[in-house]
Amino acid sequence: MRSPGAAASRGAVFVAGAASPDRIPAGKAPEVALAGRSNVGKSSLLNRLVGRRSLARVSNTPGRTQQINFFAVGDALMLVDLPGYGFARVPLPLKEEWRRLVEAYLQDRDALCGVVVLVDGRRGVSQEDGDLIDYLAVLEVPCCVAVTKIDKLKRSERGQQLRAIEEALPAHHAIPCSAVTGEGVGALWDHIHRMAGGRARGPS
Ligand code: GDP
Repeated sequence: MRSPGAAASRGAVFVAGAASPDRIPAGKAPEVALAGRSNVGKSSLLNRLVGRRSLARVSNTPGRTQQINFFAVGDALMLVDLPGYGFARVPLPLKEEWRRLVEAYLQDRDALCGVVVLVDGRRGVSQEDGDLIDYLAVLEVPCCVAVTKIDKLKRSERGQQLRAIEEALPAHHAIPCSAVTGEGVGALWDHIHRMAGGRARGPS
């Protein structure tokens, strides 16, 4: 088991993991959550964001992390790693559990200021990505889109894929990112800070 504070890095500290709604810790600092399909590259990008190789687990086993992880970045921001969705081999009851946990978090979290939805640069926007983005709109939670693994695309594919993603999600600016080259990390931080600086849903 990881203990709070065990993964301190550049001010980013693992605070808690919640596998069920009743284990979600009280939210004090403004929170920005990261969400995406299993294997989209969320752990890698999170590690890159905080400048650490293994703060969030990187895995070739999609669907493994089924809990919400909270990482404090100084006193003023909490990055929240939502469990990956859309892994076909995850049995239905587990998918239901995912839904219950993530919906409980997204619906009730006063500290939540925004969500970064990660979309795989090679796969484009999945049905589940679209469903999540629609759901966030209903909840009036701001979101931005990070297009992951952009380094894997050839120059010609890159423009085409980015255009297709922007066409599928016209209301959202898509930020091309790579956990390998670091592309987009600065732009993503700008968006995260902007969202965190916006009004959270809780009482002021
Ligand atoms: P998660 O399941 O969404 O947390 O995805 P991971 O971060 O575990 O990444 C899944 C796989 O994609 C791993 O093999 C990573 O090494 C690889 N990966 C993640 N991000 C990138 C990236 O930006 N570029 C490349 N080339 N590979 C990546």
